[in-house]
Amino acid sequence: MKPEKPALGISKSSSWGDAAAFTVECSCTDPDHAVGLWIEVSTEEDIHDEIEVTFYARTTLKFWRGFRERLSDAWAILRGAESVRSHSMLLKKQAALNLSAAIVTTIEELENRG
Ligand SMILES: [Zn+2]
Repeated sequence: MKPEKPALGISKSSSWGDAAAFTVECSCTDPDHAVGLWIEVSTEEDIHDEIEVTFYARTTLKFWRGFRERLSDAWAILRGAESVRSHSMLLKKQAALNLSAAIVTTIEELENRG
């Protein structure tokens, strides 16, 4: 299995300066499951060996919990209780490989720009 171009499950939305933005699709095709992926290569001299990877995902209170439980969860969060958020998505093996290749390629492209 090799990374594809254009790639299944991941598309580049924009690229500028030291950063590139991608959309990673869930293989079930529900757009609410997709995540935004932001990759930024640091240009600061003292942290030149790091990249910043940010995932933007929609999170919701668990829909299978009853309304009263969700209300109770929301109230707890408002009062400052810790809230653990997670986001799951399905990636075909090919899409996961494409995602990792996109990160590698983006680092190379952004570094070669400077
Ligand atoms: Zn999904």
